[in-house]
Amino acid sequence: MSTKTLPPEVQRVEELAHTHVADCYQCGKCSAGCPMAEQMDVIPSTILRMVQMGDVVDAAKTTAVWQCLACLTCSARCPKSVQVAEVMDALKQIAFEKKIVNKKIKRTVVFQKTFIDTVRRNGRLNEIELTGFFKFNGFLSDFSIPKLLADTQFAIPMILRNKLHFKPGSPVKDKAVVRRIFAKCLKEEKSE
Ligand code: SF4
Ligand code: SF4
Repeated sequence: MSTKTLPPEVQRVEELAHTHVADCYQCGKCSAGCPMAEQMDVIPSTILRMVQMGDVVDAAKTTAVWQCLACLTCSARCPKSVQVAEVMDALKQIAFEKKIVNKKIKRTVVFQKTFIDTVRRNGRLNEIELTGFFKFNGFLSDFSIPKLLADTQFAIPMILRNKLHFKPGSPVKDKAVVRRIFAKCLKEEKSE
């Protein structure tokens, strides 16, 4: 099917995901190989079907798109070369832009945003910074004291096993490269 004949929201998914959702013939191989399918509210092949049918908003509202690990197993297994993982990513972006992120998954969104901000600042992951900012931003998102304190019992055993690295790893030599990568991604995103 020509992209021009598709509803605009489906076109947007295809542009972001660089794939043709109409190529999906619902064989289910993507869902069968997905390590998260059992936890998802809607399995990947059904997400594809929803997008094909123009039901992009409901697909973007699922928790599944945020539970996706971006492991690419689905894309690799697809006999029609549909970029399923990229469709999941595109739906995440649409959910974020339209402010229709599923409320059940609020903390996952906070985690992903905090993770990417940490990498943007440092050029690599800083575990302590990620943990601190995630706890702080997560608390601001729901003011949940139990969630704020959750996992704290693991801190001492982790320190004793040398699994909590307080010292950040060796700094990235050229942080300007990291800045350029982020700037390029954001520029491409705006131009799409
Ligand atoms: S594996 Fe490909 S063709 Fe099969 S259901 Fe998934 S997206 Fe569709
Ligand atoms: S990329 Fe996401 S949807 Fe695809 S197999 Fe991995 S977890 Fe499942």
